[in-house]
Amino acid sequence: HQRQQNELIKLHEKAAEIFHHVLLNTQAGEQALSYLKGRGLTEEIIAEFQIGFAPRERILLKKIFENEEVSDELLDASGLMTQRDNGEWLDRFYQRIMFPIRNAQGKIIAFSGRILQTENFDSDKMPKYLNSPETLIFNKRQTLFNYDQAKNEARKEQELTLFEGFMDVIAAWTAGVKNGVASMGTSLTNEQIKMIQRVSNKLLLCYDGDSAGIEATKRALDLLSSETTLELSVARLPDGLDPDDYIGKYGAEEFVRLTKSGRETEFTFKMSYFKRGKNLKNEQERFGYLQEMVKELVKVPSVIEREVYINQIAEEFDISVEAITEEIRGAQQDGH
Ligand code: ATP
Ligand code: MN
Ligand code: MN
Ligand code: MN
Repeated sequence: HQRQQNELIKLHEKAAEIFHHVLLNTQAGEQALSYLKGRGLTEEIIAEFQIGFAPRERILLKKIFENEEVSDELLDASGLMTQRDNGEWLDRFYQRIMFPIRNAQGKIIAFSGRILQTENFDSDKMPKYLNSPETLIFNKRQTLFNYDQAKNEARKEQELTLFEGFMDVIAAWTAGVKNGVASMGTSLTNEQIKMIQRVSNKLLLCYDGDSAGIEATKRALDLLSSETTLELSVARLPDGLDPDDYIGKYGAEEFVRLTKSGRETEFTFKMSYFKRGKNLKNEQERFGYLQEMVKELVKVPSVIEREVYINQIAEEFDISVEAITEEIRGAQQDGH
């Protein structure tokens, strides 16, 4: 297996070089390049992440791999090609901006391709991002985009930042936040959590500010706080923006401010999360909300932090600190 793994990595490294070359130096890549530049990516950053382009003809890798007499077995195992019924090989990725995915050692093991919209190309039927299939070298559950670079930053800064998307990791990188990773378009896996814990004991969640991102933040917080001792914070993006949108709109400095002084604790996030869709002027809904908050307060490990929140809630809802403390005690006993 080891030999085939090395060969597969070599194919991926080769493919990445070719996609990158097509993007930067050929007419086929012009439109994709101006799209990326329009999204604020410089050639320097495109080179740093070795972003590329796979043209629509589906014969770019095919021709090169045929020339190099790569075996059918290896082509099949690579996930980079698909075979027609008549035996003909075609590139899997076409008309897509190609993001190489690296393993912890920095070796390219897969790609994610973002669709490039064009006039006579029906992208409605196509997923926005297409990932490589699972192969001998690529296991989605064990992969975090940019982990190889972010882990060194995380050791320096004692923190890792988790984003939803590739473009968010890259935009944050340009803004100077270089400790960012993204899971591969799925919810966080146990394997990814282990990878995070291996390099840092702090994690900043910076998901999209839309409702999907807010729900994903809630799920990630619940999972991480029950399964790990990671110190968690949240950078919540306003107005449905994702980090990349936010940086485009407000600039790098403002984004750094949001991730530093604008961050929230797990509890503060939950305080606003459980308010969503509730009418707190309604007694029943208000009581429901307070019950949720009591459940969350039980989970706050720091006594000092807990006291601050109790005071905050007491003030906001005009109830006594004693009443909340009593409720917490009750909830703690139920829990044991
Ligand atoms: P862009 O800014 O390029 O439109 P995004 O990163 O904001 O992309 P989202 O729609 O927010 O895209 O999705 C977040 C992440 O989820 C993507 O970066 C990608 O990793 C993953 N993803 C999105 N759509 C798909 C899909 N159809 N298949 C697989 N993964 C996907
Ligand atoms: Mn999203
Ligand atoms: Mn997004
Ligand atoms: Mn985006």
